[in-house]
Amino acid sequence: MSRYTGPVCKLCRREQTKLFLKGERCMTPRCAIERRNYPPGQHGPGRQRKMTQYGMQLREKQKLRRIYGVTERVFRNYFARANRQGGIVGENFLRILERRLDNVVHRLGFAGSRSAARQLVAHGNILVDGRKVDIPSFLVKPGMVVEVNQKLENNPGVQEALQRARLGHVPTWLELDAVASRGKVVSLPSRGEIDTAVDEKVIVEFYSRMGG
Ligand code: SF4
Repeated sequence: MSRYTGPVCKLCRREQTKLFLKGERCMTPRCAIERRNYPPGQHGPGRQRKMTQYGMQLREKQKLRRIYGVTERVFRNYFARANRQGGIVGENFLRILERRLDNVVHRLGFAGSRSAARQLVAHGNILVDGRKVDIPSFLVKPGMVVEVNQKLENNPGVQEALQRARLGHVPTWLELDAVASRGKVVSLPSRGEIDTAVDEKVIVEFYSRMGG
């Protein structure tokens, strides 16, 4: 299944929660969830659905997949990998998603959203340990240094995002040097350091049911 390229606010309305896919706009009254918090489509406002257990699990899975913006195939591969790791599968799963380079670039505040971060990476504007890495799914490890290519130092979009990052919250497993547009991966994140609002246990149940 290919990546969704339609209007992203529709995805939030489908899940009836903010997925924060548009950066700064998500924090303003212009956010579609603030204005129309009902599912998209002709019958959206009046739609009262009784959700089955399967339906709830599916929605939670879709929510998480949409937050990180990955395809179903990649998502399943991550789940299989998390399963093989032993320990708490749901936490392993979230940790893998957090380690993606596009997510780290976003978490460090170099881009306002994960999709903007993905573009920065794909266009070769991000260095890892001094080398260009243009693969958004690249998984970082503790000790790695992620930085914005100096060529972009004066890029208004990056500067604006960095300005916000200085004021905002960078998770404790990352260390930001905002002046140098550089961040270090201090450790792998624990569940408590991942503020993604999902119930990963439900997603584990979903894939267990599917035999994944
Ligand atoms: Fe979702 Fe952001 Fe759009 Fe609001 S503005 S609906 S949080 S993507």
